[in-house]
Amino acid sequence: MGEIKCAFCKGTGKDPFDLLSELATCQVCGGSGKVEVVEPAIKCVFCKATGVYPRNARVTCTVCNGKGIVTVKGATEVCPKCKGTGTAKDSGLPCIECEGKGVVPKK
Ligand SMILES: [Zn+2]
Ligand SMILES: [Zn+2]
Ligand SMILES: [Zn+2]
Repeated sequence: MGEIKCAFCKGTGKDPFDLLSELATCQVCGGSGKVEVVEPAIKCVFCKATGVYPRNARVTCTVCNGKGIVTVKGATEVCPKCKGTGTAKDSGLPCIECEGKGVVPKK
């Protein structure tokens, strides 16, 4: 377990889009600018580690919950369905096979 800079607010602790003007605290890290990470973790390919949902760039990435990284368990291999992009080709939504991580548990 470690701590990394919050990807969604880039470590500022503030909501990057000022969606909630009264509560302009980053919803991902709660204002601390840091998020806890369970190792082993990899960069979230779906949002390209930005923490922001690619198509609607005002909400947190649903794959990594805004952290910019995702935890993987054990050995993994590139997802055969999305070829490691984490994105379903037709819909642009997170790949169903790997849940947007771009990798699947090695068989
Ligand atoms: Zn944050
Ligand atoms: Zn993400
Ligand atoms: Zn996939």
